[in-house]
Amino acid sequence: MSYATRQREVILGILRQASQPLTAQEIRERANQNRTGIGLATVYRALKIFMAQGEIAQVEIPGTAPCYEPTDRGHHHHFICQHCRQVFDVQGCVRDLEKLAPQDFQVERHDITLYGFCANCVEGHEQPETK
Ligand SMILES: [Zn+2]
Ligand SMILES: [Zn+2]
Repeated sequence: MSYATRQREVILGILRQASQPLTAQEIRERANQNRTGIGLATVYRALKIFMAQGEIAQVEIPGTAPCYEPTDRGHHHHFICQHCRQVFDVQGCVRDLEKLAPQDFQVERHDITLYGFCANCVEGHEQPETK
């Protein structure tokens, strides 16, 4: 296995092990925790290859840096922390979503994104007082 191939395997492994989509920068940081010394250009090159192979997909969420996840995760949605800007996986889906469409319309796909504060950030965030 060549050096480049091994680096790409590391990158794919990081995406598979992560419980959430990762940006290129986050992938690089995780790779370098194992002292792999992978540069951002290498990450982007690997992402391009894995996307072409259908191994990973880019998660398109307005207002966040492009992030990536394996395509075999099944149907799920995302939660965005408005403080740390991390993107988290949300399991499950809303039932009867198709019924929101006008009568005789055919729904082909949907996107659901939840916005708020993750468990790490919710404590520092001042909740509006409810009395
Ligand atoms: Zn957060
Ligand atoms: Zn859904």
